[in-house]
Amino acid sequence: MAKKDIRALTKAQLREFFVSRGDQAFRGNQVYEWLWQKSAHSFDGMTNLTKATREMLEQHFVINHIQVDAMQRSKDGTIKNAVKLHDGLIVESVLIPTETRTTACVSSQVGCSLDCKFCATARLKRMRNLNPDEIYDQVVAIDRQSRLYFDRPLSNIVFMGMGEPLMNYPNVLKAIDKITTEEGLGMSPRRITVSTSGVPKMIKKMADEGVKFNLAVSLHSAIDTVRTQIMPFNATFPLADLRDALIHWYQKTRKRITYEYVVWQGINDRREDIEALVKFCRFAPSKVNLIEYNPIDDGQFQQASEEAIRHYMQVLEANGITVTIRRSRGKDIDAACGQLANKT
Ligand code: SAH
Repeated sequence: MAKKDIRALTKAQLREFFVSRGDQAFRGNQVYEWLWQKSAHSFDGMTNLTKATREMLEQHFVINHIQVDAMQRSKDGTIKNAVKLHDGLIVESVLIPTETRTTACVSSQVGCSLDCKFCATARLKRMRNLNPDEIYDQVVAIDRQSRLYFDRPLSNIVFMGMGEPLMNYPNVLKAIDKITTEEGLGMSPRRITVSTSGVPKMIKKMADEGVKFNLAVSLHSAIDTVRTQIMPFNATFPLADLRDALIHWYQKTRKRITYEYVVWQGINDRREDIEALVKFCRFAPSKVNLIEYNPIDDGQFQQASEEAIRHYMQVLEANGITVTIRRSRGKDIDAACGQLANKT
């Protein structure tokens, strides 16, 4: 009989398991604490259980813990982890240090089912969704690296690694629950951002469920024809639907939305592109994060000139829209936005 992944069990199920074997329910709590709060990799290390109990667990269950297979450090301090999953598949996660914060950029799927033309991850076929524990483990690993190399705990999490989080919504939500409860890492949801290419139905669902984390949308164009050209799934989820979902999001959560946006030469650097973006930003309180383009080596996309980007900023700001610029981090080790492609 195949052993079961013990972290697929809820706390109640773990308690029941012990009761069904004539043991006490609180053993379930103890094991649960080891699995999540202490992030144990093996039953062996669960020192407050008897040897017999540990062996019994070993017979019934496995702990499908991730393994950091390779770690690369950028000259700017960014760390990229190649993370090996229990079935041998690999995803990547990134630690991004700044003066005041450490941010973990985590993956939600192996590969990606979307086909954004400018993103290296899109070239990997989507193999499968990550389980909640596999997402959780990436965060724990980066928290440990942050303490080890930067002498401080992890402060922020962004779901901007491989995959589309809203195409793996139940597992992403379960992982965030574990990350935010005291029984897990106890982090504030306000320090977590889920980034999506924009799946309207799921944005509405999230809003209805009253989630407390932040939302970022990879917009890149507010004109359907342009957006469909660079993000083909936009044909299925057009901007009007996205707009409605975002209005709904704001009405329910009162949380400002961040639009991620790269300006490319000859693609979205015209006046009408800026005007469309300004108009889109008026639908719901939002800010624009202009992202530096990280070339993915086929030369099809070129970042617009400094001047064109400055112009974008000026027009947005003149219209009362907050703009920030996101400089690339970890480019030399292919760890920057859109570069995660299991190259090593
Ligand atoms: N699928 C989700 C999560 C991935 S986040 C989403 O699309 O939001 C990765 C972010 O990097 C997205 O904003 C994406 O649009 C952006 N990105 C992708 N390729 C990029 C590249 N080559 N240079 C800069 N940003 C890129």
